[in-house]
Amino acid sequence: MRLDKLLANMGVGSRKEVKSLLKKKQVTVNHSITKDGSIHVDPNVDLVKVNNSVIHYQKYTYIMMNKPPGYISATEDKKDKTVIDLLPDHLRHFKPFPVGRLDKDTEGLLLLTNDGELAHQLTSPKKDIEKKYYAKIKGRVTHTDVENFLSGVTLDDGYHTKPAKLDIIKSGHISEVEIIITEGKYHQVKRMFESVNKKVIYLQRMEMGELSLDTSLAVGAFRELNHAELYYCL
Ligand code: URA
Repeated sequence: MRLDKLLANMGVGSRKEVKSLLKKKQVTVNHSITKDGSIHVDPNVDLVKVNNSVIHYQKYTYIMMNKPPGYISATEDKKDKTVIDLLPDHLRHFKPFPVGRLDKDTEGLLLLTNDGELAHQLTSPKKDIEKKYYAKIKGRVTHTDVENFLSGVTLDDGYHTKPAKLDIIKSGHISEVEIIITEGKYHQVKRMFESVNKKVIYLQRMEMGELSLDTSLAVGAFRELNHAELYYCL
């Protein structure tokens, strides 16, 4: 990989900033100053430093976002802002994409990565990965709904869902629930409630598999996964 590309991809700076660092003799490869960004380095073998700090090469990025409403879970969209628009350049360099989709108005846990294999593992219907949501529902959620969701409900297109675990936190004109589903059909939670004549008025994803939303992340904020999350949750 070209040295200037490696430095830019690792977030050292823009191509222009990297060029300037090289010119100012602030970059070394295997302890020798180099001003030439076009040389090829092997990130697993060569020791690259900027101002004496080692640049660790990273092929993949794993980002947890607390998705805000109003953003599309996609890498590009003709009319709306996407979750990628919220990321700074040094993370965009990795070309991350969202793992699974949340609706435009849904908030909460969204994983973004450029690791296609992991994304496949987490979204494959065969894997039955649990997704946990917190929802506010217009209407009184009842124990009959809990039982119906456990046996699976029939959606508007005739599809019968797999068992879903519904926990009632509060039942009233506006109910509050937590729901765990193992599938990811289009608008699934909303359509499941529609099938029992109720409307989701707020939806937030709290968990996906072993990964939980970091509640200290403000809506719209994100961070890279920490080591524990990488090793124990993915
Ligand atoms: N179910 C929905 O209806 N919407 C989402 O965004 C996620 C699950």
